[in-house]
Amino acid sequence: MGSAVRVTDRSAVAYARAVDLLPGGVNSPVRAMRAIGRDPLFVARGEGADLIDVDGNRYVDWVMSWGPLIAGHAHPDVVAAVTAAAGAGTSFGAPTEAEVDLAAETVRRVPSAEMMRLVSSGTEASMSALRLARAATGRDRIAKFAGAYHGHVDGLLADAGSGLATQGIPSSPGVTAAQAADTVVVPWGAVPDGELAAIVCEPYPANMGLVLPPEGFLAALRRRADETGALLVFDEVISGFRVAPGGAQEREGVTPDLTILGKVIGGGLPAAAYAGPRELMERIAPAGDVYQAGTLSGNPLATAAGLATLRLLDAAAYERLEQIAAALATGLRDAAAEVGVPVQVCHTTGLLTVFFREDPVRDYDDAKSCDTERYAAFCRAMLDRGVYLPPSQFEAWFPSLAHTDVHVERTLEAAREAFALA
Ligand SMILES: *Cc1c(COP(=O)(O)O)cnc(C)c1O
Repeated sequence: MGSAVRVTDRSAVAYARAVDLLPGGVNSPVRAMRAIGRDPLFVARGEGADLIDVDGNRYVDWVMSWGPLIAGHAHPDVVAAVTAAAGAGTSFGAPTEAEVDLAAETVRRVPSAEMMRLVSSGTEASMSALRLARAATGRDRIAKFAGAYHGHVDGLLADAGSGLATQGIPSSPGVTAAQAADTVVVPWGAVPDGELAAIVCEPYPANMGLVLPPEGFLAALRRRADETGALLVFDEVISGFRVAPGGAQEREGVTPDLTILGKVIGGGLPAAAYAGPRELMERIAPAGDVYQAGTLSGNPLATAAGLATLRLLDAAAYERLEQIAAALATGLRDAAAEVGVPVQVCHTTGLLTVFFREDPVRDYDDAKSCDTERYAAFCRAMLDRGVYLPPSQFEAWFPSLAHTDVHVERTLEAAREAFALA
């Protein structure tokens, strides 16, 4: 198929301007593509499963804004909903019916959710859920898993996978010793001990690359939380609405106390939420005494995009998300095997990671032992062939409803060449 992509002049010019004005030239670290040793591409627009850069190069997009775009770029229903909402006013700081509709759609799907509070980012949702867990238990300490990411909440940046793993930052300066001391980090697969306010996990970790839970592990966390009086918090910002209508908790049959949602719930606009049983959620102000607020929370454009997106996610949609991920996984395994490159391809419905490693990846230590140089070479070669993958070993690919068998075939064709170059 050969290299379709031209040298990106306008991207280079934009990047030169950007580094002067934005730290590292970007507004979120992984976008800079430093982990794969090249400069970022600058995006002009998206169409379905395609991304078009400012130089007019077209890519098959497997990043999909890191998860929100489960319907693809600029889905007509989402665009129509957002356009209609914008015409009626972009923000009121007062209740709208659409917020109640989005809460109803969420509660109907997510097993642990009886009530929810909308916020604007996953970070804000995890920060708020942990405040609620601490208020409800009267305890300070939180357990999290190495390689799990819950947004850039100060106390949760320890061993936080993806962005941090990519940059090689173990934690971050600016996090106080007190905040760090209230976080216990355990390896994925180990059950935390002690008197904790919360055990927080991504039930399907996807920020060290996709790593599925060991058999029975989520149930073991549920039991430990019950025995010790901790709350079990599932961060389903990625898995929510993606691996099943009710997320990983529905698929695995393990119900957390609190659920953190984001990405898909905003349909590509800034929205996130935390949800749980009535007695816990009614601790939140003004129903209760735990303060949490937001000028743009429940924003009309974001709720419109979220609702339009959730309405596209019927049973056929999940079948499709499974088929696409499975076809990619099989094809990528075969393509790597043909040229003798050892990889482990992990997938579930709507998620996938190609690990450059001989053995299965079970936890963050395994993920960190992957051949990241080889991943970088593979990723650069794929970009050169018009396929845009997450520019880091420690991230998942995000199949969407806009990806067709043609996108899969184009990706596998490119991969056959790129594995040979990796
Ligand atoms: C993306 C992500 C977050 C943070 O969400 P933002 O909207 O980027 O703040 C939290 N948890 C998980 C599991 C995520 O993947």
